[in-house]
Amino acid sequence: MVWDSAFPEGLVARSISVLFENYERFYGVSAREMCRRLQVRIDRRSRDPFTAGLDRPRDGRQWCVVLPPAGHSEVQEGFLIFHELAHLFLFDRIGMSYSRSQSTAEYLEVEAWCDNFAVAMLFAEVGWRVVAKDERCRYFRDGSGANDFDAGCRRVGELITRACDRAEARIGPLFLHPLRRLARDLAAQG
Ligand SMILES: [Zn+2]
Repeated sequence: MVWDSAFPEGLVARSISVLFENYERFYGVSAREMCRRLQVRIDRRSRDPFTAGLDRPRDGRQWCVVLPPAGHSEVQEGFLIFHELAHLFLFDRIGMSYSRSQSTAEYLEVEAWCDNFAVAMLFAEVGWRVVAKDERCRYFRDGSGANDFDAGCRRVGELITRACDRAEARIGPLFLHPLRRLARDLAAQG
């Protein structure tokens, strides 16, 4: 299949490399611990119940992940934080915008990469490697094509459910409950 990207090929390759590098670097680390190591602050002031954001540091020093008000599970919050950290890596390393000011196609593609990063990190926390080095391009690119936010949520929900099904045989159902709950919540949106 020929990949149809809104970005030049070289930029796609570099973006995926940056995400994969950080996947390896922080493999098994929780979202909050990752923020601590990266000196990123977490703040609850997003007005949208399902949307998080990334704040440019006002003093030029500390980045901030903005979360919705309380009410989400730890896994849901982890997903939102990992997603925003993916934006931060892409901005920091290759200057890719993390706001909605890009074209729609570019915006949705980057959202899909960041979702895929977040899913991979959630699985890394329970010791399951969903991204192999030689499959990283396929993994990060597979997620593209969601054409609205709700469809994106449903797609991520389905992705998590499929990965849970595969993982259950290997690591048992115990650690998968929070991920399955997240998958159901995401799949139910829209
Ligand atoms: Zn995003």
